[in-house]
Amino acid sequence: MRLRKASALAASVLALSLAATACGSSDDEGGDGGSDGAGSGGGDSITIGIKFDQPGLGLQTPDGDYAGFDVDVATYIAGELGYEPDQIEWVESPSAERENLLSRGDVDFIAATYSITPEREEQVSFAGPYLLAHQDLLMRVGETVSSPDEINELTLCSVAGSTSAQNVQNDFAPDAQLLEMGTYSECLTGLENGTVDALTTDDSILAGYASQEANQGKFELAGLELSNENYGVGIPKDDTELQQQINDALTSMVESGAWDQAVEDNFGPAGYEAEAAPAIGEIV
Ligand code: GLU
Repeated sequence: MRLRKASALAASVLALSLAATACGSSDDEGGDGGSDGAGSGGGDSITIGIKFDQPGLGLQTPDGDYAGFDVDVATYIAGELGYEPDQIEWVESPSAERENLLSRGDVDFIAATYSITPEREEQVSFAGPYLLAHQDLLMRVGETVSSPDEINELTLCSVAGSTSAQNVQNDFAPDAQLLEMGTYSECLTGLENGTVDALTTDDSILAGYASQEANQGKFELAGLELSNENYGVGIPKDDTELQQQINDALTSMVESGAWDQAVEDNFGPAGYEAEAAPAIGEIV
């Protein structure tokens, strides 16, 4: 018995030393495609996930630039990590792809209307929160509902992999017809041509669509606060060092007034009244 134990121990020591040799000889350079890791600063570039089709939050403009509150928050964070705006590589991050992009190492972090949830925290980690939004409905002018009870009667459109779609099914309208698209702008087309009665997601996003020049006078928000959406900065799971650096950057963004400025610049034109800056680590 004793002998067997001793030899088992010897075998595991041998296995460990083999594993150590294997690690040491691989001379791994990281192999993450050129980005030096978000926390290191001063590298060639930083890769950040945002939305490309959400005016006021993350939008690729016709001249190939990027604009919105998430873009400003991400740019501020990158600056604090040691990267100039021209060192940022923006990557489109559809709702259903965000966990995959982070887990695969395709992006260093994500600022893309990304709500912090316990389910997502099984796969990724979050810094923040940096904004509190609420789920609402966008409907054709004159056709809005005024109470959550009426939502079950509607044909809704939302996006796969979003909390918005999940909340409809699990929470406030399990009987409603729900169409799940890849992006919210696809839902907007459905709302315009009458295929759906409402587009449902965060009020911050809906306000941006409603205020676009091409949509003036066409759509309005129902004004129902159907959920709390705590926007966090998505990071690779358990990267506590990066989490601390981003939390420090967010604190400094709020204290310096840059956060208020970004709210005014990006939500002002849509008339969206953002909630006060949330406290770091506090989910409501
Ligand atoms: N904030 C919600 C979410 O993270 C809805 C917006 C989105 O899909 O990006 O799912």
